[in-house]
Amino acid sequence: MKIDVKKLKEIVGEDNVRDNIADLYVYSSDASVHSSKPDAIVRPGNVKEVQELLRYANKNKIPVIPRGAGSGMSGQTVPLSGGIILDMKRMDKIIEIRPEDVICKVEPGVINDELNMQLKPYGFFFPPTPASGKICTIGGMIGNNASGIRSVKYGATRDAVIGMKVVLANGDFVTLGSNTKVDSSGYQLAKLMVGSEGTLGIVVEATLLISPLPKFRAMGVANFATLEDAGKMISNVIAAGITPSMLELMDKVAITAVNNAQNLGLPDVDAIAVFECNGMVKEAVEYDMKRIKEICKRNNGTGIRVSDDPDEMTRIYEGRKKLFPSLSKYSEGLFTTALADDMAVPMSKIADTVHEIHEIAKRNNVVMSAYGHCGAGLIHTKILMDTNKKSQWQGAKRAVKEVYEYVQKVGGTTSGEHGIGFSKGPSFKQEKKDSLEMMRAIKKALDPNNILNPHKLMDSPDDWLTATHLRYQVKP
Ligand SMILES: Cc1cc2nc3c(=O)[nH]c(=O)nc-3n(C[C@H](O)[C@H](O)[C@H](O)COP(=O)(O)OP(=O)(O)OC[C@H]3O[C@@H](n4cnc5c(N)ncnc54)[C@H](O)[C@@H]3O)c2cc1C
Repeated sequence: MKIDVKKLKEIVGEDNVRDNIADLYVYSSDASVHSSKPDAIVRPGNVKEVQELLRYANKNKIPVIPRGAGSGMSGQTVPLSGGIILDMKRMDKIIEIRPEDVICKVEPGVINDELNMQLKPYGFFFPPTPASGKICTIGGMIGNNASGIRSVKYGATRDAVIGMKVVLANGDFVTLGSNTKVDSSGYQLAKLMVGSEGTLGIVVEATLLISPLPKFRAMGVANFATLEDAGKMISNVIAAGITPSMLELMDKVAITAVNNAQNLGLPDVDAIAVFECNGMVKEAVEYDMKRIKEICKRNNGTGIRVSDDPDEMTRIYEGRKKLFPSLSKYSEGLFTTALADDMAVPMSKIADTVHEIHEIAKRNNVVMSAYGHCGAGLIHTKILMDTNKKSQWQGAKRAVKEVYEYVQKVGGTTSGEHGIGFSKGPSFKQEKKDSLEMMRAIKKALDPNNILNPHKLMDSPDDWLTATHLRYQVKP
């Protein structure tokens, strides 16, 4: 179906529709490895425009892909069969902040860090804390059920979303959820929208739980000669009933990359753990930090440093903070690709999984780093390879498959926070095989013409490598 650009311009105005080659190119990829061109980009400014656009698209069976900042790592906003990219960034109002109810209401295009800046004077923050917070939108965080370093204490976006306004595929407008933290009435449809990656409806407003800013915090770091010791330390901390506000792991590849790129002089060990506790009572924070320190020592941790001095905390966190951009400096000629980029495993399996990831990388002639919010069982990896070489992509494909087979073998899950898109489709479909038909039934009930972000999640292609062009130039 050819898209009627004139009609789109009538709905949202001339300036808010793009179909020139440069814009189509920019919107053909996100932070994943994939690239596939849309037919038009449309930027609605209000709910009525979203409704009208969807009525038009639904009638003409045109794919509509909602998009925030496009920072998803698994191809969530890559349009596999063309269609309209619905760029939601113009809808960026913070509608109200209600500290007395511990909630706020926002439009989907609000940027995470901007929301936190507006919440700060009230003494509150929005806890999910993705590392992409400077650019990512609340709509995209809802789409992916994003989280971050603080998920170990505060949970993910789904835990913070209690209500929502949504435009459905046929243009209908619905209000879901409530204004209260607890709500036992019927199906939890607002929560269902979280993590649905734009396949069930367009979020046009969200009601979010906010948290009081902690008055005190302290941070610590410990080095471990073996992954096993680091893994034990992490599970011991959680099992001891301590709730750190951050508990991060960096493996040797990550440490080397940070040292190469930033010259921070991190020690040559198998693993570094970085941890933080926060709260309203200084003594409680100090007590928890003391207990974590003891657990580090018991598990052969060395170089243990704990501080509540802001400058020292910045230094402690610097290596972890600069990790992702440093990865491409691990070795000359190897580039970072967002493949097998996140997963979650039971806490006791973290060390084994990281070890196995390294073995799989070796077998397939690529390099893989492992790091992440391990206090929540979450591991991030990236595949580092020569993206020019076709053989490297074949190796990466095998490595992705083997990593997720292992994750499932140890009872883990395909994505902890980055979502599925279609890069992780094969593993997701294998892991959730018993519930795929339920998911398809829900999708069909809400979007019978399959216009909303088609070919994602349960309907993603079986081969991610050949499903689209790659965002890289590959020589045969
Ligand atoms: C450097 C870097 C660091 C990152 N760190 C983290 C991290 O720490 N934690 C984490 O969880 N993720 C992380 N990510 C991944 C990503 O940034 C987050 O998941 C983020 O929340 C996506 O937001 P976005 O606005 O870019 O969404 P997009 O990528 O634009 O969209 C994400 C999904 O949401 C859907 N969507 C967007 N808006 C709407 C809407 N209004 N209604 C319905 N569906 C919608 C889209 O269709 C898509 O499926 C990182 C990415 C990068 C590049």
